[in-house]
Amino acid sequence: MASLLSFEEAQARVLAAVRPLPAELVPIAEAGGRVLAEDARARVDLPPFSSSAMDGFAVKAADLPATLPITGESAAGSPLGRPLEPGSAAAISTGAVVPDGADCVIPIENVVVTDNRVEIPAAAVPGANVRPRGGDIAAGDVVVPARVRLTAARIAAAAATGIAVLPCARRPRVSVLATGSELVAPGEDLRDGQIYESNTVMLASALAGAGAEVETEAPAADDERALREAVQRGLAAGVLVTSGGVSVGEHDLVRAAERELGVEEVFWRVSMKPGKPIAFGVRGETLVFGLPGNPVSALVGCELFVKPALQALQGLADPLPRFQPGRLSSRLRRDPERDEFVRARSQVEGDVVVLEPVVGQESHMIARSSAADALVHVPRGNEELAAGSTVRWLQLGA
Ligand code: AMP
Ligand code: MG
Repeated sequence: MASLLSFEEAQARVLAAVRPLPAELVPIAEAGGRVLAEDARARVDLPPFSSSAMDGFAVKAADLPATLPITGESAAGSPLGRPLEPGSAAAISTGAVVPDGADCVIPIENVVVTDNRVEIPAAAVPGANVRPRGGDIAAGDVVVPARVRLTAARIAAAAATGIAVLPCARRPRVSVLATGSELVAPGEDLRDGQIYESNTVMLASALAGAGAEVETEAPAADDERALREAVQRGLAAGVLVTSGGVSVGEHDLVRAAERELGVEEVFWRVSMKPGKPIAFGVRGETLVFGLPGNPVSALVGCELFVKPALQALQGLADPLPRFQPGRLSSRLRRDPERDEFVRARSQVEGDVVVLEPVVGQESHMIARSSAADALVHVPRGNEELAAGSTVRWLQLGA
């Protein structure tokens, strides 16, 4: 048998099939979590005027130390409205305009006020406690670059520079379809041989978190006609994600149904554990993922292939998941042929992250896996990894 694709090669083939979605204008209040499609440029200087960093008195540094008459006030939103008279001080609050003629602010804690005079006993340097106009960003400069996700701080930065609407990548429409004649929705009674269906909620939740608009189909039985109809409906979305029915059993009919409906298979089976029987194909611009039915295999396939595809569809500059270094708490055997993705719990110990594999690594054990917050990449090989070995791991469910 020809050697199977590595997961990195498989990821590269998925990304090569992605055509990024067009942009749409989104009001800033709804843009959180979306991916910015074009550089956003500041509409104004930030701060828009030279402003005070403290509550205190605006003065000219060259006048100090001195006792000065208080000739006015600049409050936030109510500027003095005229230049400061030479040899005087203006009361000022944080965020208020520093009037022309003043070049520093003396904090209220460092002065003595009597009647209408302020005694400032120490010298100060020009610029002290003044936030210069444009000191954070200048009008016209890029405040948020294209192809990043709009975090809370990025939307705030855009809003602070006067931006009300942002061009964002359209959200990918994803259809999720579980397959298997044994599946029953939670809440119903289980008959002999049936199991509760858990992949739909798992995938819908994971993919919505990656920016998708998710539609879920009712689970389809392992029956050619039922599958063909369900797949046909699912193919109306930009991305179809099925689970189950992609192994080598005689009831594994998903790939055949898709082939009949014009899906061109890009790959089937990847050298990884769990999740080896994963299938990926395209029909036109629609991406079609066939995840294996075992819930842990589906979870791993979703993290390594489906989520990166959604990130790339949204134009994210860096669509692949970020692996970071950590240390194994205990030794691990390796698979000689397949890279493994081991579910683990991460813990910070001093300046390293220590990863402890959860007990119960079989691909049906979703309950055991749910205790994990890390997916540890264990490259294929013959020798075991000793306790304390450095490995790469990926945050799960972040
Ligand atoms: P399959 O990939 O169809 O051979 O399924 C592999 C295993 O995963 C079988 O034990 C199935 O019963 C189980 N399975 C398949 N689909 C689901 C699902 N949606 N939820 C929970 N378990 C599933
Ligand atoms: Mg099945």
